[in-house]
Amino acid sequence: MTDFIQMIKELHGGSHILHEPLLNKGTAFPEKERDAFGLHGLLPPRVITIEEQKQRIIKNYNSKQNDLEKYIYLMGLHDRNETLFYRTVIDEIEEMMPIIYTPTVGEACQKFGYLFRRPRGLYISYLDRGKIKAVLQNWQIKEVDVIVVTDGERILGLGDQGANGMGIPIGKLSLYTACAGIDPSKTLPIMLDVGTENQDLLDDPNYLGVKHCRIRGEEYDEFIDEFMDAVSSEFPKTLIQFEDFANRNASRLLRKYRHNYRMMNDDIQGTAAIGVAGILGSQKITGRKLEEEKLLFYGAGEAGIGIGELYSQALTKKGVPIELARERCWYIDSRGLLVKGRENVSDDKKPFAQDFNHLSDLTEIIQAVKPTALIGVSGQGQSFSQEAIESMATLNDRPIIFALSNPTSKSECTAEQAYQWTKGRCVFASGSPFDPVTVNGVTHIPGQGNNAYVFPGVGLGIVATKSSKVSDEMFLLAAKKIAESLSEADLKHGRIFPPLTTIRDLSLKIACAVGVEAIKENLTEIDLGDQPEKLIGKMMYSAEYQDYI
Ligand code: NAD
Repeated sequence: MTDFIQMIKELHGGSHILHEPLLNKGTAFPEKERDAFGLHGLLPPRVITIEEQKQRIIKNYNSKQNDLEKYIYLMGLHDRNETLFYRTVIDEIEEMMPIIYTPTVGEACQKFGYLFRRPRGLYISYLDRGKIKAVLQNWQIKEVDVIVVTDGERILGLGDQGANGMGIPIGKLSLYTACAGIDPSKTLPIMLDVGTENQDLLDDPNYLGVKHCRIRGEEYDEFIDEFMDAVSSEFPKTLIQFEDFANRNASRLLRKYRHNYRMMNDDIQGTAAIGVAGILGSQKITGRKLEEEKLLFYGAGEAGIGIGELYSQALTKKGVPIELARERCWYIDSRGLLVKGRENVSDDKKPFAQDFNHLSDLTEIIQAVKPTALIGVSGQGQSFSQEAIESMATLNDRPIIFALSNPTSKSECTAEQAYQWTKGRCVFASGSPFDPVTVNGVTHIPGQGNNAYVFPGVGLGIVATKSSKVSDEMFLLAAKKIAESLSEADLKHGRIFPPLTTIRDLSLKIACAVGVEAIKENLTEIDLGDQPEKLIGKMMYSAEYQDYI
């Protein structure tokens, strides 16, 4: 950081520090720094504390009319003063996570072209092919711990948002910092702009991406190959997180790169971990064993298949053969129940095709398959009918109902519907947050199956150990740590994910488990010693102003 300050002083004179969000303290610059950087007269005279600044931010934030306005306000702060931004978000994480990430970030992406104020991160377009390394060299900070990259094709449940998908890497990296203390100066959001098939965007004069259809096939693959090579040579220690790529690319790119690069795909692996964490947490309420669950997934894409695969792996640890474990996972996709003999089934889905009749109606399938859990990962809002949910409650004393699709409008059912239609007996979780629901005098707190419980902690463990790869076992460990962190009070309210206020402690526990696993799998030479929690804890960024002189 000191070199960075020196560079700014030399290039622009000291007062430029006011315009550098990573260093700016605004009205909190103390007298001696005002002297040193020549800030007198450029700031109101009274020096105030970060706590006082935060209170002013919260007051302004609360005066905003809607969530998008709040998002715009917080992004403005992010662009002015990152320390204050993180101090506020960390302290108010329950309130602000739904604003800086899902669901509000979805709307922000849809309007990104209109909201754009100031660039953040790197845009690498297909026009840059052959010179991606040079584009990466334009990034001034050479030490990068985490990159989140998207090509914008499957933004949350909102489909192709092209270059407007940049809101996602920016939001995810904010969560890396807020939830796990990854140093914000060492994060880099990247948008790979390979075009869009969203006609509204192509027709929109304010669209900021390149105006051509998506590059596909070999050309696309060569472009991503060049990107991966360039990133790992420019930033050899970085973790690369793939985010919101379409189903057709996400799994195959994960399979292609995961053994040669320090990379992961949160939509598949992070979702898998949070899904399995939800099932493990539910056990503490239902009393069922993991192997007694029968999961019916509504949606067989990245998220659904990822959860089913990790759940199956968890069962193999209990001695269940993988084929039998997969028989506990049933899938419905846009063409009905996934059964053997169905045509055009992708390789990812094939291991889960069941020996059964082909059915299409959800309630009919529930009655025939008799699942203990119904897991919505379809991106189809309101697709769980009252009849379907009531069938789950007829079959099970404590049915699991997860409506994981994002944003809120895509949720398969609301918390209110799930609790009311099961007379308060279901264990419910959703992708986007819902308010508590009271049924017959009992208040249920819906869990938010938010990947933010997983990827920041896993990322911190990888960054701390410089593990050369990210293994499936690490995600299973993350799921277990989440379930272990539930308190009696959480379970009493039917809550299967801990309160977000505890997320930094949880991320640290996950990071330690991941770090120890990296050592066990010989993926690192770093020794965490006998107190990994202390060592990794010290690496975590906390949003405090540092003394510059
Ligand atoms: P995807 O496009 O890969 O998969 C969607 C699946 O839904 C496909 O199998 C498709 O055939 C199926 N589908 C579509 N219409 C259907 C219908 N009418 N009936 C039955 N199935 C239908 O998407 P994905 O990455 O798997 O994500 C799905 C949803 O899950 C999104 O809304 C996403 O936001 C959400 N998600 C939530 C979390 C979380 O809560 N932690 C994490 C990741 C994804």
